[in-house]
Amino acid sequence: MSDCLFCKIVKGEIPSQKVYEDETVLAFKDIKPSAKEHYLFISKTHTKNVNEMSKNEPQSIVEVHNAIREFTQKEGLEETGFRVVTNVNKHSGQIVFHTHFHVLGGEQLRGFGA
Ligand code: 5GP
Ligand code: ZN
Repeated sequence: MSDCLFCKIVKGEIPSQKVYEDETVLAFKDIKPSAKEHYLFISKTHTKNVNEMSKNEPQSIVEVHNAIREFTQKEGLEETGFRVVTNVNKHSGQIVFHTHFHVLGGEQLRGFGA
């Protein structure tokens, strides 16, 4: 989508600090980190949220989560622990309507049973 921020990051029109890339998936540092390590994993194919993704681009879910597995294993985040979060619409606080999975870690996280 031409007016989508994360599509512009995929196309290189807006710079990002990439941490992972393959044919279908891109991951980069969140510009305003909520944890010591905070990455955003996206499919290069635009969908607006995870529900649209699972309906229209189900393969993208597998591709993104394969990338998260590879990255977190390589970087040691699997060992220390991490959290995956995806926001949908208003009550979640979603502000970018290109499906993304927050990967948070690098320190003890609070809020969900911690
Ligand atoms: P949401 O609330 O939509 O789930 O989260 C969007 C995330 O994107 C936020 O954590 C925000 O800090 C991040 N973000 C917004 N604009 C940019 C940007 O231009 N570059 C990067 N790297 N992250 C961004
Ligand atoms: Zn997009």
